[in-house]
Amino acid sequence: MDLYEYQARTLYLKYAVPTIDALVITHAEEAFDAALALGPGPVVVKAQVKVGGRGKAGGVRLARSPEEARTAAAEILGSSIKGHPVRQVLVAQGVDIAAEYYVSLLIDRSNRAYLALASSEGGVDIETLAAERPEALIRAPIDPLQGFDEAAANALVAAAQVDSDVAGQVAQTLLRLWELMRGEDAMLVEVNPLAVTSGRQVLALDGKITLDDAAAFRHPDHREFADAEPTDPLEAKAKAAGLGYVKLDGQIGIIGNGAGLVMSTLDVVAAAGEGHGGVKPANFLDIGGGASAEVMAAGLEVVLTDERVRAVLVNVFGGITACDEVARGIVAALAALGGSGGKQIVVRLAGNSVDAGRAILAEANLAPVHMAETMEQAAELVASLAAAN
Ligand code: GDP
Ligand code: MN
Repeated sequence: MDLYEYQARTLYLKYAVPTIDALVITHAEEAFDAALALGPGPVVVKAQVKVGGRGKAGGVRLARSPEEARTAAAEILGSSIKGHPVRQVLVAQGVDIAAEYYVSLLIDRSNRAYLALASSEGGVDIETLAAERPEALIRAPIDPLQGFDEAAANALVAAAQVDSDVAGQVAQTLLRLWELMRGEDAMLVEVNPLAVTSGRQVLALDGKITLDDAAAFRHPDHREFADAEPTDPLEAKAKAAGLGYVKLDGQIGIIGNGAGLVMSTLDVVAAAGEGHGGVKPANFLDIGGGASAEVMAAGLEVVLTDERVRAVLVNVFGGITACDEVARGIVAALAALGGSGGKQIVVRLAGNSVDAGRAILAEANLAPVHMAETMEQAAELVASLAAAN
């Protein structure tokens, strides 16, 4: 889950990452009081959208008075930044910036490590800097078992050539960001700019944090970060049933067990669809290992209630999941739904209890259900049925 800047700020406060005072508002009139409350001096009014480059897109505005703050907030609140409608703005204390640095911590999967990045040429688009002046972006791998310590932080800061009078503050900030990353199970923590004020104070002026959803169970307090906006009803239903579901933009419902199998099924079905007018997978749905008939039935219900779905492929390799449970789930779902709504269902079962599973489906003799032997045959059949429906 990506956080908004104002949410990242709450984690900055928790970990004592130095930052400015700011208030988040949803109505332009509130900007006036917010600017007053933040004290004399200018404020910066910032669109809260989960996309970078807000400054260049007109989403960050300096306001010299509460009136100007209100005007800026009114304009930004009604707009959208790179296609993201702005529903909240942050009114932040304006500071006098002497230098803009860049620091980030991220998971470097290819090296099975964390990576710390720092540059004394921050503020700008970091991808541009990395492409044009890679030597200005210093990289320091972090051994996940050893972690990141003061010596490593100091070395990185020295290599990035930040002004020596603030090097200690930058290193301390990096260490606090590291505490935040580990403490909150973040996958990315990026501060751009990490500003140096004219008073030589180091402050995080922007915040981009991605939390690891797989670690959400360890962080009940992260629930408050979830968007209140209505989520897709199918996704909500799938989530409530404990299913790994991702909506895609095709017409063929896909259900399988295990993320790897489901992903290969998506590929095989997409390839088969090219021979049938370009029909494509409508979703990713993993019923997981050891799924019961109830879980299978819930998955089939979710996929069948998707209006765009014209045919469904159930591809199960029975390991911990037993094929007879899957078959019972299919029968139960079709009974509960009173049929498949005219959608054909191709079922490919293999592995644990496959004979029992096939026998249950044969006995039930359900009109929309077709059996297939191999994944390729199943993909070909479901693509042709989707194209014909
Ligand atoms: P982004 O464009 O989405 O990355 O948004 P940022 O929060 O990084 O803001 C963009 C730019 O606005 C920064 O790089 C700063 O140059 C500028 N900015 C942000 N806050 C302040 C501030 O308090 N004072 C001044 N003078 N400039 C600011
Ligand atoms: Mn920024």
